[in-house]
Amino acid sequence: MRDLENKRRLDKKYQKSHKEEIKKQKHEYYLKNQEEIKNRVNNYRQEHLEEIKEKKKKYREEHKEEILEKKRIYRLENKDKVREGKKRHRLAYPEMKLASDIRYLTKLGFPNKLSPFAYRHALTAWSKTVKKLGHGLCLVCDNPATISHHIIHKAKYPGLSLNVNNGIPLCDPCHYDSHEWN
Ligand SMILES: [Zn+2]
Repeated sequence: MRDLENKRRLDKKYQKSHKEEIKKQKHEYYLKNQEEIKNRVNNYRQEHLEEIKEKKKKYREEHKEEILEKKRIYRLENKDKVREGKKRHRLAYPEMKLASDIRYLTKLGFPNKLSPFAYRHALTAWSKTVKKLGHGLCLVCDNPATISHHIIHKAKYPGLSLNVNNGIPLCDPCHYDSHEWN
């Protein structure tokens, strides 16, 4: 027993003092046996699919706030990349975009007692009304308004999303500034 403990202690000491060397050796080993290692990892993944899924789910649940914050910072630091990525995704998967639009419009239409398609039309009419009430000008800079912006976020309070008092006309650059995520 004592010998084993001693051996372990020595091993640890050795590992500490030869850190870089061991790292290099491991890397070399990896390069030499890449295929085999990849296969082994893949096999393990296949065999433990459910277990891994559960672990990931648990991790996401336990670190929810942390993950959200990380995502928020990433979006802020990589605005162009995120926008390009979204565009690429929309073009490559129009069927997913359609399904997500319907889900979104259903969710927002429901509190307004409207089908997703009726809600989409109502939203367009709301937008036109808000612009007309603002004389077609951006409320911030007086340039021609291109968009009607919800003061109280429509995804959070869909029941207020068709109220004309909950909208202001904005131009593109001012609207851009109004959304932190953009
Ligand atoms: Zn403006």
